[in-house]
Amino acid sequence: MESIKRNVLLNPGPATTTDSVKYAQVVPDICPREKEFGDVMEFVSKELTNFVADNEKYTTVLFGGSGTAAVEAMLTSAVGEDYVLIINNGAYGKRMCEIAEAYCMNYIEFKSSPFEAVDLNALEEAIKQSKVKISHLAVIHHETTTGLLNDVKTLGQLCKKYAMDMIVDGMSSFAGMPINMEEMNITYLASSSNKCIQGMAGISFVIAKLDALIKLNDVKKRNYYLNLYQQYEYFKKNYQMRFTPPVQTLYALKQAIIEAKEETVEKRHERYVKAWKTLVEGLDRLGLKYLVNPKDHSKLITTVVEPESGMYNFDKMHDYLYERGYTIYPGKVSDLNTFRIANIGDLNYTDVEKFLTILEEYINTLK
Ligand SMILES: *Cc1c(COP(=O)(O)O)cnc(C)c1O
Repeated sequence: MESIKRNVLLNPGPATTTDSVKYAQVVPDICPREKEFGDVMEFVSKELTNFVADNEKYTTVLFGGSGTAAVEAMLTSAVGEDYVLIINNGAYGKRMCEIAEAYCMNYIEFKSSPFEAVDLNALEEAIKQSKVKISHLAVIHHETTTGLLNDVKTLGQLCKKYAMDMIVDGMSSFAGMPINMEEMNITYLASSSNKCIQGMAGISFVIAKLDALIKLNDVKKRNYYLNLYQQYEYFKKNYQMRFTPPVQTLYALKQAIIEAKEETVEKRHERYVKAWKTLVEGLDRLGLKYLVNPKDHSKLITTVVEPESGMYNFDKMHDYLYERGYTIYPGKVSDLNTFRIANIGDLNYTDVEKFLTILEEYINTLK
């Protein structure tokens, strides 16, 4: 296999992939209704579940679409007439509120700082004081806006106490850090093919607790393409999606899963954390500040405050790095101008070292 030009993506997904994942897409044409392709989807579905739960009690429902499709599917399929309380502490929490709004759902927004851990006492108070019945709690596991990691395990205990089902957007944490759905009391977990699982963009999925999922047939349907129950029901019978799947992307995801199993999520997490440590040590050296306290930090994505030099310009810095093979991403949090560095994907701390050298070179041009 000829190697493909390597770009290091430090944007918060799609992440850098291996050549073997890229090449896995080059396969003979196949009709996705063939059994041979059903076997690929069965493998993908079962193995995705295996990373976070037991296939006897949980199952993975696949959709064609980017990650937001899975978030929209679980929110709009799982919540009935009662209320969902949505924790909004970043752009993705806000997006869940916007989805609920678009579908005219009953929801309560719980706003929280994008830099600091959720005030659990205030949250519990809001639940206790509520005059309406809250059936679900929805939260982002890793808020990709800032790198803030929400304490899903403790939130899961709160859900147990108040008999709520927990809906978790695990887009940028799944396969990047250990997750145990049963232990954390997560009922629905959404992620996609192009982040820490290190596949190609185009597939989103919801991992659901079976006993809750089965009951969704009784929830009045407010969606069609994205209906979680119907997608599950159809898949269970045929190992097919209801509508045309992104065929080649599924082959790439199968390969990405094989590679993630080989590496293990624990080891992948260690690799990511080592790259993060290299990054923040380098930022300290360059005198650049980053947001979010390490104790609440995912160590997967870092929000860096832009240098104060009047000469500084994000686009110029981006182009300087891009020409040298490194892609970074802007980000605006509150009034602060920031940019984001993600250390997920097929990369190593040595890539971060090289990136820092080029960043330093660029910063020196500002002096
Ligand atoms: C990437 C991401 C999404 C999905 O974004 P898409 O552009 O639809 O793939 C959703 N939530 C979080 C937390 C994310 O990081």
